Parts: sequence; structure tokens; C-alpha cells
Amino acid sequence: MPQSKRDYYEVLGVSRDAGDAEIKKAYRKLAKQYHPDMNPGDKDAEAKFKEISEAYEVLSDPQKRARYDQFGHAGVDPNGFGSAGAGFGGFDFGGFSDIFETFESFFGGAGFGRSSRSRTGPQKGADLKYSVEITFEEAAFGVEKEITMSRHENCTKCGGSGSKPGTSPVTCKRCGGTGQIQHRHATAFGQFIDVRTCDICRGEGKIITDPCPECKGMGKVMKTFKKKINIPAGIDDGQIITSRGDGEPGVRGGPPGDLFITVNVKPHPIFRRQGYDVVCEIPITFVQAALGAELEVPTLDGKVRYTIPEGTQTGTIFRLKNKGVPYLRGNGRGDQYVKVEIEVPKKLSEKQKELLRQFAELSGDEVYEQRKGFFDKMKDALGM
Ligand SMILES: [Zn+2]
Ligand SMILES: [Zn+2]
Repeated sequence: MPQSKRDYYEVLGVSRDAGDAEIKKAYRKLAKQYHPDMNPGDKDAEAKFKEISEAYEVLSDPQKRARYDQFGHAGVDPNGFGSAGAGFGGFDFGGFSDIFETFESFFGGAGFGRSSRSRTGPQKGADLKYSVEITFEEAAFGVEKEITMSRHENCTKCGGSGSKPGTSPVTCKRCGGTGQIQHRHATAFGQFIDVRTCDICRGEGKIITDPCPECKGMGKVMKTFKKKINIPAGIDDGQIITSRGDGEPGVRGGPPGDLFITVNVKPHPIFRRQGYDVVCEIPITFVQAALGAELEVPTLDGKVRYTIPEGTQTGTIFRLKNKGVPYLRGNGRGDQYVKVEIEVPKKLSEKQKELLRQFAELSGDEVYEQRKGFFDKMKDALGM
């Protein structure tokens, strides 16, 4: 590694006594300016960005900052950065967990790999996933549901420290409280330092000698509770409601995870949904179709009356405006489409059959427009 490095405070343009907030602010401003996504193909910007990120990695971490203040660049050798397996001393994005947190908020979390996060830095809590089942009508008009969920919470007895009240954890002797152990290897490329999480304190830097009896030293206890979920009108099957910050608590000061609730909508016996429109089929008799009839049509708002005209064909679709599902965003609703299907009776009495025969004799082909047209076309085509 070249040793002609600029001073990290100079890189971020902050004074040596700058506070965490000031450092973060300076870093965010510069990182945004020099981020490779904002400067495609610009090698100078890329180098600058790495320099900024490296400076921030050190100055944002109290332990690394203290080592840097005392020993300069040698105290925070980037060969030893990050998590286990930092490799050939190259710039390893994977180790810089809090930088990624920052970039997620800049760029919506798109496109950044996070393979190996530092185990000793703050970590976002795990996300929790639940699902809830609702009816078709509840999906259409919205509903409040209660889910029973389990989540870790800070132990109230020890305040989350994990130590029995009145006792405090002791600094880990193996790692000296840093939570990390350095291994030096000589390779053909020179000496490399590989930093691993301390196996005694598991990266915490401290060891609990008298565990809290309530949480057994975990600092956290599992709590089961009920949570109300507001399901908005217009939601569709499979959609996910996100409740930010309602997941597992963060680790070492990291933000909490999120809660994701998948909404499953039970199928309706009559209605189907197409976007915000409701679709259904209604069987009618051939007498209703021929003579016209007033139908009782089920809708999400209850039954409505609809008059079909004389000579309604099977498969005819009529529309009931604004009888569909309310839009999830904005005002208004979809429509309802009702398809009528003529059902031919399977069991007829002798008397009914006789009347139909008389009907056929009376009508011939004249009353059947399409059928007549079809036979005319067939004659032309086949010469029959
Ligand atoms: Zn340790
Ligand atoms: Zn406890």
C-alpha cells in the first residue's frame, strides 16, 4: 500500500475535535459528490470516493479514531480493515457496514452488495415477516386486523446490558476490548493482516461475568404481543404492508428491522378481481334472455336491480359504474362487469317439451339472426 496518505481529518475537511454528527455530515456531502454512480468512468472521483470512505470508516468508529489519533495511519492499517478475510489489502467495500447504511438512504438501497458486514459495528435488526388473511370485502373496503407477533425487546431488568443489576461486564482480555483479533500472515505478496472477530467475547469486547437472571445475559427477552395492522381499502391479494422499524431491535446501536405483512385475500364465491374492477357471471334462463328481465345483481354494496333487454345474448357483459374496488391511492372506484350466461334446462316435463316444439314450429329460422347468417355463409362456402 502506498504510504503517502492524506490526513483523514483533512480528507473530510473537519477539525480534529469534530463531533460524530459533523463528521457524518461532511462525509455524506462528499460521498454524494464523488460517488461512482454520480461520476461514471471518472477515475479521479473514484479514488477520491475511496479516500473519503476510508477516512469515514476510521473517524466514525470511536476505537479506530482513537487508534488513528494516537498512531496515525499505521494504527488503522487498511490491510487489516473490515471483517475476516479482507483479502489482499485492497479496498474492501464489504467491511464498511455503516457506510452502506448511509448509501441505502442516499440511493434507496439499490445495487450495493453487502457480503460481509463488520460484526462489531452497529447492525440493523432482523426483519420480521407475518401474513394475515382477509375477505374479499375487507380487501375492498379496508379493515383493521390484529396480529400476534413475537419480537426481542431490551430486558427491563438489566436495561439491555445482560449483566445482573449491580454488576458490570469486564473488558475481554483476549482482544483487549476491541472485539477483534489480528492475525499476521507472510505471503508472496508481502505481509497481510487478517482481522477476525474475537472468539472469546464474540466481538463484543466485553464479557459478562454475572449474567442477568431474567435474560440469561442476552440483554434481550422475547415478547409476544398483539399489533394492530391497518389494511387500506383497495389492497389486493399478495400485497405487502411494511411497518418500518417494527422488526427486531438493532444490534450495538443499529436501527431496528422492519415488519412485513403479506395480505392474503380469500377467494370470493361470486366475485373475482381484475385490477380495481370486479367481475362476475350471472346465469339466466333462456326465457329471461328472450323476453328481457329484471335481474338482482350482487355487488360489493349489496344487491342492485338491473334490467336486461329482450333478446339478450349469452356472454353479454354489462357494466355497473363505480361498483368496483376503491382505489388504493386516490379517490374513486373501479367498475363491476357482469357477464350473463344462458343456462339451458336439462330436465323438462313433457308439457314443457311440447310447448317448445310448438314454439319451434311457429318460429322457423326467422327469429335467429346469427344462426340464419351462419347457414347462409355455410351455403356460400361449401355450396350446400
Ligand atoms: Zn474479546
Ligand atoms: Zn437482563
